[in-house]
Amino acid sequence: MKKNYKQIPIGGMITKAGNSEEYKTGDWKSFKPERDEKKCTNCLICVNYCPENCIKVKNGKLNHFDLDYCKGCGICATECPFKAIVMELDTECEL
Ligand code: SF4
Ligand code: SF4
Repeated sequence: MKKNYKQIPIGGMITKAGNSEEYKTGDWKSFKPERDEKKCTNCLICVNYCPENCIKVKNGKLNHFDLDYCKGCGICATECPFKAIVMELDTECEL
């Protein structure tokens, strides 16, 4: 039997501070960033522009994109002054 609307949990609840980390929202994306390591100078400009804070740095260098939270917006690719990031179709997304 289908649940009525009163039995469905309320969405968008902030049950505790920082609970958004529990939800891997990156599965919304249609495209994902790919970096060309030969072009990348590790200037880290893209890190400052990513609205999801999912470009990870290690030892002062770009380490990886956290695709669990990346929305595929492409801002990093647009802002990279060296055109080192291209957006590729995310074949794992559910369209
Ligand atoms: S902005 Fe471009 S060159 Fe700079 S770290 Fe990011 S990918 Fe590399
Ligand atoms: S595509 Fe958007 S969310 Fe993903 S790493 Fe680039 S700027 Fe961040």
